Amino acid sequence: MAVDVLSMDRTALEHLMEEGGLPRYRGRQLFHALWKTRVASYDALSVWPATLRSRAAAEWPLVRVVPVERQQARDGTEKIVVGLFDGERVEMVLLPHRFGWSVCVSTQVGCAIGCHFCASGLAGKTRNLSAGEIADQVALGETLLAERGERVRRVDLMGIGEPLDNYAGTVAGLRLMHDPDGLGLSYRHLTVSTSGLAPRIRKLADEGMPVTLAVSLHAPNDAVRGELMPVNRAYPIAPLMDALATYWERTRRRITYEYLLIDGVNDGLTLARELVRLVRRFPCHVNLIPWNPVPEFPYRPSPPAQVTAFRTVLDEAGISCTVRRELGQEIEAACGQLRRGLGAGPTPASGQQPSERPLSRGGA
Ligand code: SF4
Repeated sequence: MAVDVLSMDRTALEHLMEEGGLPRYRGRQLFHALWKTRVASYDALSVWPATLRSRAAAEWPLVRVVPVERQQARDGTEKIVVGLFDGERVEMVLLPHRFGWSVCVSTQVGCAIGCHFCASGLAGKTRNLSAGEIADQVALGETLLAERGERVRRVDLMGIGEPLDNYAGTVAGLRLMHDPDGLGLSYRHLTVSTSGLAPRIRKLADEGMPVTLAVSLHAPNDAVRGELMPVNRAYPIAPLMDALATYWERTRRRITYEYLLIDGVNDGLTLARELVRLVRRFPCHVNLIPWNPVPEFPYRPSPPAQVTAFRTVLDEAGISCTVRRELGQEIEAACGQLRRGLGAGPTPASGQQPSERPLSRGGA
């Protein structure tokens, strides 16, 4: 798109209006309409005269992300295949918790990192999502939850893609989510997940946005982690931990470690003790997640008794730790199970209603 109004902050929209010979306040009105009113098209921007609405539609096309298909699990989790302006698709998930609803959003079409346990990386990466496309998934979540009298409490950038491999889009998207005139969410309620791109973690530490950082660790040493995550060859554990120490020092946000438990691969108690020694360097929380099955990989989730034994080692060492509830597994909406929604039909034009038919998952 030549002019991507959805990715512009309020100041950029004010400049856009000025360049078009219009007063700056038109930019503020547009920003408010995009993120507070969440208009589907310029037609709904009723504070603008009809002539300006027509001009805007011609000069600055507004194409929001749209729900193409929706699927709900018995536990309330809802997976949504999201259509993008160019016909590409990603997936986002609405998740119910005791504190309210969170939305898990995608940052790339596919993923280039290729972790050996994750469905999202199987087809590689097609493109980055724009800042507007990332934030607009949250806006879509707000709209869908408002229908139930609910709202988005937390956002996880944990869907398809490596957020820090799309650094500019991710950071600008986070600013749109946080802006009080945008989606108005506290940085503390935004979580960026990363496979451990150490230089980008250091860069993020200097952005002045104290988001929670969730690191896919999955093993406490390079030998086991390297088997599961090829990215470990570029960024082994020692430089990764140094980057995380920097993030902690600059933001004072404790680091969250994600640790998938895979039967016989990374769930031994010797590894649990090694994990304790690794993560106690600065404040942290460990999320243990029994691996969610993806048919292309030969693993099994750790049995419940092993999960308990692994957790006990962390508990006894005083490491803050939870075993994550496996929300949405039956609709492949759980961690590591999201794909690009390739099996669905054509993307509807902006403003169309989502399909009610069940998801057709062609897979990547
Ligand atoms: S776990 Fe994250 S970084 Fe790894 S392949 Fe999946 S989406 Fe990409």
